[in-house]
Amino acid sequence: MQSCKEVRMHFRNNHAAAVAIAAAVLLLSGKVSVSAQDTSGITRLTPAAMEPVKSGVSLPEGALDTLDTADPRIKVLLLSDYTWRFIKDPTYARDEGIFTEYWDTELAVPYRMPADSLPSQVALWIVDTLSGYHCPHQTEVCSKFGYRHRRRHQGCDLPLPTGTPVYSAFDGKVRLAKYYSGYGNLVIIRHENGLETFYAHLSKIYVKPGDWISAGTVVGLGGSTGRSTGPHLHFETRYKGYAFDPEWLIDFKTGTLRHRLFVLKKKYFNAGARYVPESDQEEIDILEGDAKDKEEAAKLEQAKKAKANSSAKYYTIRKGDTLGKIAARNRTTVKKLCRLNGISERTVLRPGRKIRVR
Ligand SMILES: [Zn+2]
Repeated sequence: MQSCKEVRMHFRNNHAAAVAIAAAVLLLSGKVSVSAQDTSGITRLTPAAMEPVKSGVSLPEGALDTLDTADPRIKVLLLSDYTWRFIKDPTYARDEGIFTEYWDTELAVPYRMPADSLPSQVALWIVDTLSGYHCPHQTEVCSKFGYRHRRRHQGCDLPLPTGTPVYSAFDGKVRLAKYYSGYGNLVIIRHENGLETFYAHLSKIYVKPGDWISAGTVVGLGGSTGRSTGPHLHFETRYKGYAFDPEWLIDFKTGTLRHRLFVLKKKYFNAGARYVPESDQEEIDILEGDAKDKEEAAKLEQAKKAKANSSAKYYTIRKGDTLGKIAARNRTTVKKLCRLNGISERTVLRPGRKIRVR
């Protein structure tokens, strides 16, 4: 095994490697502007950036040394097989406030960002040589993202037998890990690029808030907790609290990440009115939810009426009464009397009849 110094020498003497590194550093200036939300460099980077990534990519072994690049956040990693890769300074995102701003271990969506404050599109590096990827659970999506029965389905559903390991898709820090109304046992992980991933209905949780985890860490076991009628993983991807279809990122059937560089467009946050095939299971789920909502709304309405009726007060009209007199006597207004009784100011008042005054 060669020492670091020797390897560095080797690289210095190897013209091809030097050119490659120089090119890489040049490429990096494009990469940096991309991550700074300027998408003009994308076309140039397309071949590498749009490369699909197989599930299970992890940090290469045999790192010997690092070289600085023009960007202090990014370094070139020299490997023992004389190849090199980019790496990010892992402390960078921590310094950027990604893991401190809107950091909440209790609320699923702590962001308070108005929709119009979001950029029309943002380029996010999903995977580089330091940030791996692992499919949370590889299977065909049984219920997709979008509107169903007027209710928004904020993620996609992946059927699985209870007890199946569920993996973190990317590296990140656990923000929330607890039982959450509707979601059941829920794990939320925030990633360096600002994305958040949600893993819901778990039967068991294996992580806790504050844990730094890498792609492929088992965050828990699949299950059917919360509002769920059968075991499945409800998986969400969010940016600044806004959900978008995880299928933009991941092909769950093959388990492949579609691109290294993901251009998140604002329009993705809109579930749209498109037809989405639904699973029977989730349909029952949603219908039950709707029925419950209706039930609660009806109860509320009834309670309102009951309260109004219990405080109702009537007055028996006497000869010579006018709406003005009745209003004054009962400390109300003519307008209110009209509204309460469904009459107009010109309605003839018949003595002996009752009029509601409150
Ligand atoms: Zn779901």
